[in-house]
Amino acid sequence: MSVLAVALLVACGRDGSSRGTGPDRSSKAIGTVSLGPVTAYVDADAWRLLEELGETPDRLLEDVVEPVRSLLPLPETEVVVQVAPEHAVGKYGIGGFTDPKAGRVYISLDDGFRDLGASIEGLFDRLLAHELHHALRIIEGPGYGKTVGEEVITEGLADVFVTEAFPDEGPLSVAVDLSGAELDEVFRVFRREVDRRYGRSGHARWFYGSAELPPNAGYSLGFDLVKRYIDEKGRSAGEMVLVPAGVILEEFV
Ligand SMILES: [Zn+2]
Repeated sequence: MSVLAVALLVACGRDGSSRGTGPDRSSKAIGTVSLGPVTAYVDADAWRLLEELGETPDRLLEDVVEPVRSLLPLPETEVVVQVAPEHAVGKYGIGGFTDPKAGRVYISLDDGFRDLGASIEGLFDRLLAHELHHALRIIEGPGYGKTVGEEVITEGLADVFVTEAFPDEGPLSVAVDLSGAELDEVFRVFRREVDRRYGRSGHARWFYGSAELPPNAGYSLGFDLVKRYIDEKGRSAGEMVLVPAGVILEEFV
């Protein structure tokens, strides 16, 4: 842990709360919230939007970082919270992304989304927990993955981890979107393509849908494979965050 992180921990209140510094309202400045190894940079529009919705960046971060830290040895991780409708998922008004090179997390909000308050209340914690699992895997583990198999397992681990960090909330909907015969068909395609390196277009095909694959195929298959593996082996997605995808894949393909 760096000297800076130690100083930030010491700066926390006695009740463990973080001390956020809001952005200067007259500019596009960035507000900062630090909690342990996680530092969130919240742009002025996002900060104002969250406050309008009755939330505070400090509380949102605390509600996620504490349960995640109890399960994952988080490294120093940067989280950018921004108003960026183009990066939010249409039906939720909120989206998460982790830079596969730097491990920096981005949470994007759509300020035009009508039910954003409900989305933030129901999704923000699980979405950020999912991305923080990615961040640790990228920063200290085998990385996000380059093949279809590696990407699907990385997503599955993050989605199973969400259910470990927030056991009362259930999995993210993309993780359980497909089941039965539909998931069996996805698995048939997966066996053919598991070692392929697709780059960005292949990622879109596997996770957002294509002529051959339904939307969320990669999320639902990853969740199914990882869940079956950890249930059978008595392990957890938290403790397996740094384990290469091949360890899980060899059980199935
Ligand atoms: Zn993900």
